[in-house]
Amino acid sequence: MIKPHGGMLINRYIDENKKDEFIEKSNSLPKITIDDKNISDLEMIASGAMSPLTGFMKQNDYNSVVNNMRLNNGLIWSIPITLAVDEEKANEIKSFQQVGLYDENNRLLAIMDVEDVYKYDKEVEAEKVFRTKDGEHPGVAYVYSQGDYLIGGDIYMIQKPDHEDFLEYRLDPAETRARFEANGWDTIVAFQTRNPIHRAHEYLQKCALEIVDGLLIHPLVGRTKSDDISAEIRMKSYLVLMDKYYPENRILLSVFPAAMRYGGPREAIFHALVRKNYGCTHFIVGRDHAGVGNYYGTYDAQHIFKEFSHEDLDITPLFFEHAFYCTECGNMASAKTCPHDASPHVFLSGTKLRAMLRKGERTPKEFSRPEVADVLIEGMQSK
Ligand SMILES: [Zn+2]
Repeated sequence: MIKPHGGMLINRYIDENKKDEFIEKSNSLPKITIDDKNISDLEMIASGAMSPLTGFMKQNDYNSVVNNMRLNNGLIWSIPITLAVDEEKANEIKSFQQVGLYDENNRLLAIMDVEDVYKYDKEVEAEKVFRTKDGEHPGVAYVYSQGDYLIGGDIYMIQKPDHEDFLEYRLDPAETRARFEANGWDTIVAFQTRNPIHRAHEYLQKCALEIVDGLLIHPLVGRTKSDDISAEIRMKSYLVLMDKYYPENRILLSVFPAAMRYGGPREAIFHALVRKNYGCTHFIVGRDHAGVGNYYGTYDAQHIFKEFSHEDLDITPLFFEHAFYCTECGNMASAKTCPHDASPHVFLSGTKLRAMLRKGERTPKEFSRPEVADVLIEGMQSK
């Protein structure tokens, strides 16, 4: 089995028998209420999905990641994992060694060491991480909306976030690793998505599955833009698709609890490293991975992998072109495998696709499986 990033799978959940002690201690500590994005980061640190991180980043790691895409110890890491607070809160917690982290319903999730409280330059972070200072970019807008101070330190997770949905599909890295092992898979490819799976993506997954033992379909269900299709409808569309068109003994569906940052190339690296922690050996990188609008070039998220050696990354990226059904070829293909011009290609723009589904029209079966189209139509109409 592939080693986690940094060599060891982190687990920051505290022992059951220490819970009372931690809850008791939290009563005398300052409170920080954290949002959905922070909660998803917190959960991923605690479960080891973000190994080797053991908490929110201190200044030395933050600076190194923003400027060099590496942690202070030299390991690759492309996205700052930070907890921001405003000036008032920063002053309040400075004299404490620990704080309690709470969700919006005042549920204690974790205790965190306060090892570092520091100011940071939001524009530098935006420019380096997102390649733009434009506040219209959703990832940049989030950074600009944060407090002016970051706090860094290890976390001690007391209980899981209060998830209401997809409970049977929330596998932590230790659990996906155990499943892979039980299935006897040595090589596993991960597919990241925040969209329904149409024929084009099914084709990429199956091309990859021809050369590895197993496929992890790992849809992101954390915070996304409000115009993305709801996670509930997407999950339903994956299930009907897998039921009918995928070999049951070679796939695993599990939700990926990360929040989208729309960081394009840097987020592609992050998505790959994190999948290594889940036990995957290969990772599919399509065109414009984790992009938004026109902020990144079509292949930027593939090119960035060239900046690192295989020893640095360990997980193997698989780069793909857009795929389509070609009526001349009579099969799914891409620009790499089809010799024809675009006229025999069955292609729908996102706008056309949404318009058809909204009207209750099934998309061509060469574009979407009819079962998937039906779920999406139902989802659009109940909206
Ligand atoms: Zn063709």
